[in-house]
Amino acid sequence: MAGDERVLVIIPAAGSGVRFGGDVPKQFLPLGGKPLVQRVVERFLFDAVVTRVVVPVSEMLLSAVKTAPGDRVQFVAGGATRLQSVMRGLEAAGGEFDLIAIHDAVRPFFSLDTFHATLDAARKHGAAFPGMPLPDTVHQIADEAIASTPDRSVLVAAQTPQCFRAEVLRDVIERAAREDADATDEAGLAAKYGHHVQLVRGDSMNFKITRPEDLVMAERIYAEWGGESDA
Ligand code: C5P
Repeated sequence: MAGDERVLVIIPAAGSGVRFGGDVPKQFLPLGGKPLVQRVVERFLFDAVVTRVVVPVSEMLLSAVKTAPGDRVQFVAGGATRLQSVMRGLEAAGGEFDLIAIHDAVRPFFSLDTFHATLDAARKHGAAFPGMPLPDTVHQIADEAIASTPDRSVLVAAQTPQCFRAEVLRDVIERAAREDADATDEAGLAAKYGHHVQLVRGDSMNFKITRPEDLVMAERIYAEWGGESDA
């Protein structure tokens, strides 16, 4: 890791999280007494490699959080889609970054080793993402029946942080904006636009908190690991 390299992390957190049910967007549900997104931000801030963390949040929340963070964290207003929230984050951060990581607000157990490996691969190849082999067979369905069964050995489940050289991500975002595209995964979008996106081995602990039972499991893991100091 070059000493003067500037690394930006964008954590899109402006979604309403309606699939989870309940009133609170899932990224703000508590894990060990603190909102998930705060756990994630603090983990990145613990890492000296990270120059700045930008968190796009809803307009409504922006006024509540604006005054809180130090100078390595910046909250900005998100957009109507995840990708627009990433764009807003990128614009707000400005142009002086070499590498940019995008991380899901609801993956609190990402590993810093994997993050560094993904940054290294992005520096070398332009873009990289952590992926995991699929434990289950996956079927393509049509009319409630199996239409085809893809070869599982060539499939991976994409995790985050997904990492990019700044000029690669800017190219991807500009093209997506022109096409009015949306994406749940910037790595896939980069590949679609012809960039090499290198696979890095992900971690099974880096799961996404999507359903209420995921949060129950996360609380157990958090308690077992002893948590961090909440002082
Ligand atoms: O809703 P979904 O799970 O696909 O959202 C993925 C991530 O993108 C979440 O962290 C969500 O908060 C974020 N998002 C956003 N701005 C939106 C929609 C989603 O930052 N307009």
